[in-house]
Amino acid sequence: MSFGVPFKRSELATMAGTAARANEDYAAAGPDWAVVLDGATHFAGVDTGCIHDVPWLVSNLAAALAEQLILGAANLPEILFSAIEITCSAHAGTCDLANPDSPSSTVAMVRSAGTAIEYLVLGDSPVILRTTDGITPVLDDRLDHLQPGGRPYTRDLVRSKRNASGGFWVASTNPDAAHEAITGIADDVTHVALLTDGVTRLVEYYGYSWTDIFELLSKDGPSGLIQRVREAEQASPPPAHGYGKQHDDATAVYIQVI
Ligand SMILES: [Zn+2]
Repeated sequence: MSFGVPFKRSELATMAGTAARANEDYAAAGPDWAVVLDGATHFAGVDTGCIHDVPWLVSNLAAALAEQLILGAANLPEILFSAIEITCSAHAGTCDLANPDSPSSTVAMVRSAGTAIEYLVLGDSPVILRTTDGITPVLDDRLDHLQPGGRPYTRDLVRSKRNASGGFWVASTNPDAAHEAITGIADDVTHVALLTDGVTRLVEYYGYSWTDIFELLSKDGPSGLIQRVREAEQASPPPAHGYGKQHDDATAVYIQVI
């Protein structure tokens, strides 16, 4: 069991890309931890082998992660490994977990550890750490570098590289993905942001810096930051991209550590 010092303050906001579709992001936070998930949207018409939708997957993962974080389980990769196992067992009886198109999710997770911050990033939902010395984005950009070819990726390329050595890793039906996450522990952290790619497009497409992101979070909070995303998208839709959408589900958690 391990419990950290509670954060001074934490706030979260999540908003679906459009009212017509369920939000496939999920966020949860406690006094000394936070989790953000971004469920993958599938290519239309693909048989996933799973009777559940993406919100089911992210809810199950979030519940299993939250329980272990609340109870102070040992370390973040093991917490994620166990959460994927628990989620698998919740649908092993009804679904084909060997199907490579089974629903999947990114995971961004932080926890207070004494005076330090433990972090875990799997997939393209980053954790951004602000310390007294500057800002360090913790990014998992393996999905940006699939070979051969480049974006737009073919369905077969994505399928063959998902949860495969030399490819990219996500929380789906293979608990070992947890051991492929980017993890670490950082000292002197004053603020943390956990974001889905529906928000990081402000940096990737719209020219914002991470410093700008923290300024907006400090001034207007996570919901104000997401509002800024929507305004940018209205003014100028993002360029077509691998999975380009004018409005993606957008989620932000902002933590003031001390
Ligand atoms: Zn299922």
